[in-house]
Amino acid sequence: MDLLQLKDKNVVVMGVANERSIAWGVAKQLFAVGANVLFTYRKERSLTKLEKMLEKYDYTAKAIIQCDVNDDASIEEAFQRVKEEVGVVHGLVHSVAFANPSDLRDDFIHTSRDGFAFALDTSAYSLVAVSKAIRPLMTEGGSIITMSYLGAERVLDGYNIMGVAKAALESSVKYLANDLGEDGIRVNAISAGAIRTLSAKGVPSFNDILSKIEETAPLRRNVTQEEVANMSIAMLSQLSTGVTGEIVYVDGGYNIMGV
Ligand code: NAD
Repeated sequence: MDLLQLKDKNVVVMGVANERSIAWGVAKQLFAVGANVLFTYRKERSLTKLEKMLEKYDYTAKAIIQCDVNDDASIEEAFQRVKEEVGVVHGLVHSVAFANPSDLRDDFIHTSRDGFAFALDTSAYSLVAVSKAIRPLMTEGGSIITMSYLGAERVLDGYNIMGVAKAALESSVKYLANDLGEDGIRVNAISAGAIRTLSAKGVPSFNDILSKIEETAPLRRNVTQEEVANMSIAMLSQLSTGVTGEIVYVDGGYNIMGV
């Protein structure tokens, strides 16, 4: 029995920069279950890497499309291309975030007006913009997932403006879930544990965060890219049709601890 029902479904994956990217972990599992994967990328560098990775693993993408989430025209063009390629979309993986590195180095109070707006625009508003763009393509219902982090709820050293952006992202998930529910479209966030990726390099205290999780989390270890990908597959699939507007933790249970 095919419990997932993702075979031949069209899923857009945003945010693969390299093999360590959470989005790449999700894409690998999507290929494994027979989904059609359409990628979006921002920089040419990511495109070159992505093409090499696809060749290495012998995967064929349905499409690879440029999309800068800071730019409405780029989003419109990208989803027009998605429409031309597949017509109907069943899933969207939003795995995109960015803040000025300088805003993560100093105390939060020194966040600049521009830095605040840029982080929120890239990391939270982008979900609203791409959900709006993909809604008309999810004519058979669908599932949208995004990646969040515990810094949305708790003060984590060095996470600063990104924590505020993740709080906005998680709240946006709930409002979007309410708007899109009538179309049979679900919207959920996965609050992933700390994973060593390109983005994580921008968080100055990242090594300390990894050690603390190992000491304190109920599972006494950090989670893997594959574990986050597996929950992503569940949230994109028929296994989670009753779930929307949720923040699902894949963090070894770290979020339940008092310290
Ligand atoms: P990553 O650097 O591999 O991925 C981030 C992606 O965002 C990159 O592909 C980058 O090109 C893309 N991006 C940034 N600005 C963009 C723009 N303007 N337009 C289009 N794409 C843009 O790092 P990752 O850790 O895989 O991050 C993916 C998501 O997971 C992010 O939302 C991140 O905050 C979240 N997350 C990461 C961790 C972790 O510890 N790594 C934990 C929880 C949540």
